[in-house]
Amino acid sequence: AKEHLFALAGNPNCGKTTLFNAITGARQHVGNYPGITVEKKEGLCSLDGRTLRLVDLPGTYSLTAYSLEELVARDFLVHERPEVVINIVDASNLERNLYLTVQLLELGVPVVMALNMVDVAESRGIRIHCDELSRRLGIPVVPTVARRGEGKEALLRAAVDVAESGRRWEPLRLSYGADIDPALQDMERLIVEKGLLTDLYPARWTALKILEEDEQVLGKAREADPALTDELLAQAAKVTQHIQKTLDSYPEAIIADHRYGYISGLLREGIVEQRWRGDRLH
Ligand code: GDP
Ligand code: MG
Repeated sequence: AKEHLFALAGNPNCGKTTLFNAITGARQHVGNYPGITVEKKEGLCSLDGRTLRLVDLPGTYSLTAYSLEELVARDFLVHERPEVVINIVDASNLERNLYLTVQLLELGVPVVMALNMVDVAESRGIRIHCDELSRRLGIPVVPTVARRGEGKEALLRAAVDVAESGRRWEPLRLSYGADIDPALQDMERLIVEKGLLTDLYPARWTALKILEEDEQVLGKAREADPALTDELLAQAAKVTQHIQKTLDSYPEAIIADHRYGYISGLLREGIVEQRWRGDRLH
């Protein structure tokens, strides 16, 4: 029988554990990630003759190297290569939750979105047009109410479809503006040429992480090719200095701004319908 590995990723309090429990019921196992105290929950379920293995990743807002939870989540995605990442998104907090979605897409992993808490959104007069969100992001989006188990089968079917479709997932390529894009492109080209960590990460993602001085990625890069890493760091330093001087900012902040810009552009029209606020119709 076919078996698939899916990971559940989402911000804290998006309903990840509730959905995980609704899907796996009693077939769960709680342990720890090797060597650390971060809890690792795994569970099984069956669907249409397949066995689905689900891992509930730690709740995170981002995929940086600043917290153990974020490192655990991203290492799991990169090293265990789940066939699909089920990204649980709180529909009542869509804009903020999409920040993680964007990073998952930049990492190039296959994503299916569970648009959860649509009942909460509805009760505040917010309707989200899933088809349009799905079309703009290029990923399946399935509405769910995890607390009542609603939508879970449709969600799992969408994930199985992705796992069995053989679809190629190209990492999302955002622009980070004129101060970063040209250097990023040069760095990316070098990374591809030398094959630096290309078995793990998309080249552009590695370049971004070097620009952000991500300690984990830098460590791995140094181990693989110290000379190239020095060259990339020198390029990154130039960008950082320039941004400090001209904008009084730093690359991570500019990168975050552009991600938020992309998200607000995405949501500007046709996705979120605010039907009323308080007791007033709009
Ligand atoms: P996690 O931090 O992502 O694991 O979130 P939890 O699964 O612990 O859920 C956080 C809270 O949201 C809990 O009180 C859940 O009962 C509630 N919750 C989860 N999903 C839904 C949903 O779809 N609708 C509503 N109304 N509440 C939900
Ligand atoms: Mg939880």
